[in-house]
Amino acid sequence: MTTIGLSAADIAAGVSGGAFSAEDVAREHLARIKEKDAGIRAFVTVLEEQALAQARAVDAKKKRGEKLGALCGVPVAVKDNILIEGVETTCSSKILKGYVAPYDADVIARLRKADAVFIGKTNLDEFAMGSSTENSAFFKTANPWNKDCVPGGSSGGSAAAVAAGFAPLALGSDTGGSIRQPAALCGAVGLKPTYGAVSRRGLIAFASSLDQIGPITRTAADAALALSVIGGHDPLDSTSSPEFDAGKALEPAPKSFVGLRVGIPKEYFIKGIDPEVEKAVREAIAVFEKLGAKTSEVSLPHSQYAISTYYLIAPSEASSNLARFDGIRYGRRAAEAATLEEVYERSRGEGFGPEVKRRIMLGTYALSSGYYDAYYAKAQRVRTLIKQDFEKAFASVDLLLTPTAPSPAFKFGEKTKDPLSMYLSDVFTIPSNLAGNASISVPCGLTRSGLPIGLQIIADQFQDGRLLAAAAAFERERPFPRLS
Ligand code: GLN
Repeated sequence: MTTIGLSAADIAAGVSGGAFSAEDVAREHLARIKEKDAGIRAFVTVLEEQALAQARAVDAKKKRGEKLGALCGVPVAVKDNILIEGVETTCSSKILKGYVAPYDADVIARLRKADAVFIGKTNLDEFAMGSSTENSAFFKTANPWNKDCVPGGSSGGSAAAVAAGFAPLALGSDTGGSIRQPAALCGAVGLKPTYGAVSRRGLIAFASSLDQIGPITRTAADAALALSVIGGHDPLDSTSSPEFDAGKALEPAPKSFVGLRVGIPKEYFIKGIDPEVEKAVREAIAVFEKLGAKTSEVSLPHSQYAISTYYLIAPSEASSNLARFDGIRYGRRAAEAATLEEVYERSRGEGFGPEVKRRIMLGTYALSSGYYDAYYAKAQRVRTLIKQDFEKAFASVDLLLTPTAPSPAFKFGEKTKDPLSMYLSDVFTIPSNLAGNASISVPCGLTRSGLPIGLQIIADQFQDGRLLAAAAAFERERPFPRLS
């Protein structure tokens, strides 16, 4: 028997019950990566030695009769903007090539304690800026469902790794959709937890008021299991909330949706969305109704400004977060520079790719004196209006249903010439980051040409447990075909 394709929960149960060893699991997943990743390129680094050593340590712990953690022996693929002590962390950027993490991110420390096994670091759009993983400075990652297509982004390597059966669980980060959109395009489950539910210590910051770490998995139950491990208060991340109870991630999937109020935001079914996506999402809504949910139309009128708002706030925060990569404090230093100014100029000029430079310039402009009030401060005010729209909606409904992305996976190169069309990939995911609420993408169908479609379910802040339980019930009604 093979452990490839098993859920994280089943692997952990098999390892703790003695059905197979953690070392067998690691070997099988590493062999699969060796065999198949050349055609997908999900990984920037494969941690072969370390993974085997970690797996053997889990097996030894079992032999000694010690209690094993909730994710014992589960291979985890980690987006390469999250620090694992002693492992190179690049953000898929030339500027960080060779940078070795000096400590474990909080999520990594928690996974380690739960006896998970880190199998590798995954490719991303440079510094998590993008929606297709084409902005990686190293190479492109292919969508396992169709290798001419992108896997989405920016956590494209993590989503592709899960879809290809390289790991049942991957970590991503989501600033404007980077967990949910690639999960949708790769037929995986992707959870952006409530802002503050998961510590970001050890996540290389892109836009700190929006960034959130979360899991990409094959099942909603695995996403819940992962959140119960990585979630929880971290006193060393000032934005981490003591309000979130990680244990509450594990609510059982309800048998019926009787009593559940579901809102369908009318602004999320706009012209321009792919008709096959709309059809699959409408059918998913009908599944909720069949299970007894009461659906009603709601309005989130300010969502139409979400992209403009995001593209002022996120680049502003990025321009200040990325100032530290100057060739001196962090990052690769340009070889030939006569003055300090030249060190900065050349190191940053050579080290950052075009999209990162575009964001830094946009952000610097929006924050500059004379423009700050017109752009950054105004965007903050619109952000508040967007957040209030959600608060109003959640006064009368428990969950919202929308498409995750306006289209299924697109071809390489299709959107690279036109940044605006790329930015539109996140039109339905960005509002949740601006509002800080919990959102998940679950597979809800395939297009005629065989590409996955994602349904987005949104819940109010700290309702992650309810969100995951609803997603699990939907999945039970609508099992999704797997690639592996
Ligand atoms: N695609 C969006 C961007 O380029 C979101 C990225 C993300 O969530 N990290 O900014």
